[in-house]
Amino acid sequence: MNQLEETPYISIVIPAYNEEKNLPQMMDRILPVLRGMDTPFEIIFTDDGSRDGTLRILKSFAKEIPEVRVIEFNGNFGQHMAILAAFELSRGAIVVTLDADLQNPPEEIPKLVAQIEKGHDVVGTIRMKRRDTIFRKAASRIVNITTNKMTGMQMSDYGCMLRAYSRNVVDNINRCSETTTFIPALAQTFAANPVEIEVAHAERSEGESKYSLYKLIRLNFDLMTGFSVVPLQLFALMGICTSLASMAFAIFLLVRRFVIGAEVEGVFTLFAILFFFVGIIIFGIGIVGEYVGRIYQEVRRRPRYVVRRVHGFDAAEATAAGLKVTR
Ligand code: UDP
Ligand code: MG
Repeated sequence: MNQLEETPYISIVIPAYNEEKNLPQMMDRILPVLRGMDTPFEIIFTDDGSRDGTLRILKSFAKEIPEVRVIEFNGNFGQHMAILAAFELSRGAIVVTLDADLQNPPEEIPKLVAQIEKGHDVVGTIRMKRRDTIFRKAASRIVNITTNKMTGMQMSDYGCMLRAYSRNVVDNINRCSETTTFIPALAQTFAANPVEIEVAHAERSEGESKYSLYKLIRLNFDLMTGFSVVPLQLFALMGICTSLASMAFAIFLLVRRFVIGAEVEGVFTLFAILFFFVGIIIFGIGIVGEYVGRIYQEVRRRPRYVVRRVHGFDAAEATAAGLKVTR
């Protein structure tokens, strides 16, 4: 069936992890939007090792709707890997990513496409009246601030996954092979003419956020160490400052010894100062460890994700890419 189809102009990429409750509604809303745009499109879902009925629902979509293609992961490799896998198999001149949980209204897609058609190569989005818990918002704020500072890029809302990319940017992303990444930041490094627009944001329709506090902290580290060496440089700078300060302190003690005499009390003050520096040292080892860990992951050269099989793909095309197909 797919062979007769025209090459899609728009590729929609949706990662799904345990989203069985949201998918039917998602499909009901996204299909009319895309059909209404009157150009060939494809919707690529990645099932990121879901343990609920997600895969079953996605397979039935692939059977019933010719435009739907499904990538079945062998396990849970994370949202960004799910998107990357879909990027590699996407064919559209414009690629739009969005979440499966209906937090990003599919009705906004035409707005994003229009921006790419105007000549922008990356369309970011800012969530108007963001509907998330206070905790989730605070975490995102930290991510946004640190990322902008560390990478020297300017983007107001990294977390919103409703984004559009031109083919050129997607091709460049596909050439990257790092094992942990954050797609909006990666895309920003390739963007020549990015733009940000405001979009609506809804509460998560069903289920709960897949991001725990730990995952968010990990994400922040990945962002910092994956896109810049500023933490290492800051740390070296901090080392220089502390040694200068302690040198000044030693000189002060020396002078004091001659003027007032040797000091004996204040041992615990010394402890406090000592612990402070020990803390800084441990923090520094941690930062170095983050980089070493990343290097370790890269040199292992393990596959970033494992596709078990694909559904709804053109057989010849998928076999050429070394994938198993079911129609
Ligand atoms: N997701 C995924 N793999 C994961 C975690 C999440 O594919 O390990 C998908 C999830 O199904 C959703 C999107 O990524 O479509 C965003 O996840 P979520 O809504 O939990 O994140 P939040 O909205 O809290 O940022
Ligand atoms: Mg969500």
